[in-house]
Amino acid sequence: MRKPLVAGNWKMNGTLESITPLVEGIKQGLTSINNVEVLICPSFVYLSNVSDLIEDTSILLGAQNVSQEDEGAFTGEISCNMLKDFDCQYVIIGHSERRSLYGESSELVAEKFIQVQKSGLTPILCVGELLEERESGETEAVIGQQLRAVLDKVGAEGFQQAVIAYEPVWAIGTGLTATPEQAQEVHGFIRDLVAEYESDRTVAEQVRILYGGSVKPDNAKEIFAKQDIDGGLIGGAALKSEDFLGICQAANG
Ligand code: PEP
Repeated sequence: MRKPLVAGNWKMNGTLESITPLVEGIKQGLTSINNVEVLICPSFVYLSNVSDLIEDTSILLGAQNVSQEDEGAFTGEISCNMLKDFDCQYVIIGHSERRSLYGESSELVAEKFIQVQKSGLTPILCVGELLEERESGETEAVIGQQLRAVLDKVGAEGFQQAVIAYEPVWAIGTGLTATPEQAQEVHGFIRDLVAEYESDRTVAEQVRILYGGSVKPDNAKEIFAKQDIDGGLIGGAALKSEDFLGICQAANG
């Protein structure tokens, strides 16, 4: 049985002033939600503050990116060990904004995946196709290439302690959402691809696959109801405690 995970990706949003009411709002509303793992991924600079704010709660802390290197002369980069100093458990890697705006290749994302796991943190590996790729029937080829870049290096075992997020790029921050059927189709494809790398389907059946792309309280329930969708990676709606809680509630069942 896979426990749903709802992860809020705050991206480059928030101020020292705004994060406290946001976290406090989430904390208050979560008292009635116990069937879901809830994760928040603030900007690096607020990890310490958020870590303090969620102390003694079940809320988990994650980062939005990390370096593939251990330490050293890498100006502006953040290491896994640094994240561990602030009680991070998860790291989002390969988000489409990192891939498209900062040129991160699937090979680099695979290096980050390995680094994150080596340090004992859990990677959330994002994959997703562009609109033109979907329209030209290349969705599975694109997702397959992004996923195989990691699977070829770590095998299915590498996904024992990992999360995958399917985020169609055309649905991120656009208000467009994949239909639950479109999302389920890709989630099923992803699970089958993981299974190709093992002799039985143990890891494939256990790995959590999140959907991301304009998830809101009013569409979350029908998306999360699909059999291979194990929660969501939430951008815009993670910035308002009521919306984020509405999505957590939908995942709670
Ligand atoms: C995201 O950036 O991971 C995301 C899913 O954003 P939004 O929910 O705003 O589409």
